[in-house]
Parts: sequence; structure tokens; C-alpha cells
Amino acid sequence: MGMTMTFGKYKGKTIEEVYCMNPSYFSWMKENRMTNKPEYQEFIETIPYQYPERFEWDVDIRSGYQCWKCKIAMQIFLIYNSEIENELRNGYPINSDLAYSKPSSLIPFAKKYSVLLEERYSKVTDSKYVMHICPHCKMHQGDNYVVEDNEQETTLIKRMRIVFEQGVWKENQP
Ligand SMILES: [Zn+2]
Repeated sequence: MGMTMTFGKYKGKTIEEVYCMNPSYFSWMKENRMTNKPEYQEFIETIPYQYPERFEWDVDIRSGYQCWKCKIAMQIFLIYNSEIENELRNGYPINSDLAYSKPSSLIPFAKKYSVLLEERYSKVTDSKYVMHICPHCKMHQGDNYVVEDNEQETTLIKRMRIVFEQGVWKENQP
């Protein structure tokens, strides 16, 4: 159970309940400059991870990631919550979002940018999730190395914002 609203017409309801009843309520909060409220902070820090296809995301494509198996370089697809400033986006190690929770709708989209994603079984999490696949040897690369705590030196080759519309992800031109 998350935090509950402390003001307004949804007082006492959880953030998720309010989002499910009226998702535009949080856009209204933003428009009315209520982004400093803890309810808004809780919203942007939790809800996008539960409903990734309903939110915009920033994506960095980086080259030069070395496959742990064949050691050949591959491209990776790193995703960031567009509402939150991430200090580890350009830093070292890199930490990006949606670890172990990328929607499978991203698989065909990433392929357009020569990034191979596939749902595979992971011993680390004892579950299946959408992860990077080496295009050369087809070995999977766990999110514990690529998405969380990525300690490889890679080069940013493309930065974009994406949105899910009518069943497909697309680049959202500003
Ligand atoms: Zn490989």
C-alpha cells in the first residue's frame, strides 16, 4: 500500500487508486504547479513503473557494450523516467530505469535501432523478463549488468523521447 492523498477530492485514497480512477488528475496537479507536493513525487516515482506504456520515456542508445560471452561490442537501449533527473545517466556507473520490467512492446521498437531484446529466463531473478541479447552469439545480458550498475565505458549515439500510441512505440518529436 502506497501513500494516500492528503488534500482535495481524493483525500484518503492511494496514489494508484487515484491514477486508475482519473489519470489526468496528476497532469492537472502539474499544470497547477503542484509538482512539489509529496503526492506528485510519489506518483512520478511509482506509477510509470507499474504502467510503462502509459508514460513517455527518454531513451539513450549507447554503443560499445561488450558481450560477456563473445566479447564483441553491441548496442544497448537505456530507458529513463522523463520526469526525474537522473545523475547516473551520464555518469559512471550508469543506472537506468525499467530494470527487469521492460514491456515486450519495446522488442520490435528497439530492433529498429539495431538493439536486440528478447524475453529470456534469468537465474538471477528466477523469472523471465525482457533483456538484451548479443546479436553475434545470441547470449542474453542480464539487467543487473546492463540496466543497473552498468560499469562499462560506452558511447552515447542517440538520445530520444518515446511514447506508446495505438499499440506501438514511436519517437516523440518535440
Ligand atoms: Zn556475444
